[in-house]
Formats: sequence, C-alpha cells, structure tokens
Amino acid sequence: MDVERLKRFQGCLVGVAVGDALGMPVEGKLRGHIRGQYGVLREMVDGYRPAGNITDDTMQTLCLAESIAEVGEFNPDDAAKRLLEWYRTDPFGIGNHTMQVMVRVNKGMDWRNAVKEVERVNAPWTAGNGSLMRCSPIALRYCRDISKLLESSRESSLLTHANPLCQDSCAFFNAVLSRVLLGWDKKDALSFAMELLAHSSHEILDRVQDMLHKSEEEVSTSGFVLDTLECALWAWWHHDDFEEALVTVVNLGGDTDTNAAVTGALLGAQYGLESIPQSWREKVRWRDDCTVSDKCIALATRLYELAEED
Ligand SMILES: [Mg+2]
Repeated sequence: MDVERLKRFQGCLVGVAVGDALGMPVEGKLRGHIRGQYGVLREMVDGYRPAGNITDDTMQTLCLAESIAEVGEFNPDDAAKRLLEWYRTDPFGIGNHTMQVMVRVNKGMDWRNAVKEVERVNAPWTAGNGSLMRCSPIALRYCRDISKLLESSRESSLLTHANPLCQDSCAFFNAVLSRVLLGWDKKDALSFAMELLAHSSHEILDRVQDMLHKSEEEVSTSGFVLDTLECALWAWWHHDDFEEALVTVVNLGGDTDTNAAVTGALLGAQYGLESIPQSWREKVRWRDDCTVSDKCIALATRLYELAEED
C-alpha cells in the first residue's frame, strides 16, 4: 500500500466536507459583507445551520462515493437511486436545478427524462455548479483508467445537469484531480487535462488559461459552473497550503460552500489528509452524532483499493 497516495485520497473527500462546512455560514454573501462581519473568517461558525454542519455538496459527494464503494464501479442508476433517497430526507441546501429534477424523480419519472425536462424548462440557465461539486469520487475510482474517468465524470453530471459545460467541467476537473491523486506536480497535471480535453468547449480552456494570471480580486465566485471551476483551480494553482487556500476562497464570497468544497477536494488531494487542520476535521458534522471525516476516510480508503485493482 502506498500510504502517501492513500492520504491523498482521504484528503480529497475530507477536503470536500471541511470546505463545505467552512463556507456554509456565508453562502451567497458578498466579500465586503463577510469582511464587515468577521474580518477574515477562518473558523467554522454558526450560520444557516450550526457550526461544522455540512450541506448538499458533501452529501451528494457521499452518495456517489457510497454507490461506487458498494457497486465497485460508477453506475448512474444506482447513484441516482441514492440521490433520491437523500432528497427524501428533506435535505438542507439543495440547489434549485437539482431540486427540480428530484421533485420529478420523486413522483416516479425516470431520472433521464426528468433531467431532460428540467434542462428544457430552464434553458439557457442550466450550467450551475451542482454536478461539479460532487464529482470527485469518480476521480478516486478511475484515476488509472482515463477513458472511464472521462465517461463517468460526464455521466455523473447527467444525473442532474445535462448542460455540456457542466459535463465538460466535471471531466476537466477530474482529469486534473486524477493526476494530483497519482502524485503529479501541478504543472504536469494541468497540462495533462488541457491536452486531454483540448476539444472540449473553448470557454473552459479560456478560463483555465485566464486563472493562471488572475489576482484574488479578479477571481469569479458565482454558482455558474465555470466560475466555480475557475475559483477552485485558481486557489489550487496559487496556494501551497490547504488552510490558506480554503480561507481565501471562502472570504471571496459568492457560492462559498460549493467553491470551498471543490477547492478542498483538489487541495486535500495535493497535500494529503494531514494538511487539513485537525480542528476542522473534528468539527465537520452530519446531524449531531456522526463525524463526517471518519465516513470520508473509510470511503476514500475503499475507492483507493478499487482504483489500485485496475
Ligand atoms: Mg451547499
């Protein structure tokens, strides 16, 4: 067993949870508002939910991770079933687009038809970050199988977000993440993804080029999928410390929990489980009785084993 690699897998999923919980209290707030209220927000505080609570970002990531861990592969029908089970728990923080899909599936519509209908109803405003935020377990499972990585990343987006920009963003992000999990340096990981997805939408490639040179003030932070992709890649590229990267992202405002969850996946994979502050790891909660970090670590370990068998 490659212990250093295992710690990258574990850091990835725990990174999602701590990013989500750190960003939860200030989701939707502007930078100036956060500065006025907290100075610099560096700890998990009470917000829409008690301090340390996770939201839909982590819960949907866990749905996908649990599905892969039990089935052994990414199976969209099984993952869709788990998302529906999660929806039936009356979850906190569910995005509007995903909600519209789930309402239909809950009434008995096939998930593929539900996604098509919501895509049609909401077009062209259908490129939210709701599938990007949960896609990291695909990279954990398929870091050694690039064609499955690309295919399953796109399929995992299709569970709710059929927009090609969402599908391509998941594929691009996971292409980078998969190399990071294998221990590649940042420059090589990014070049790999750029080449692999050279024929995807030019908006993605332009954003990636732009983020290399953007300052903190220029980074996009909305719930648009390209903004979240840019924000996470920017934070990863320009920081060499897990905590500082996440603190920076959350204090930029906007869709803070999702931006920090996606950033956390990448930084956690880059620097490993131990780079995540112990106090954050202990504080992330799912309801009152369950430590999310333990759940993330167990699932990441299982996905590591499955990936190593390839
Ligand atoms: Mg959320």
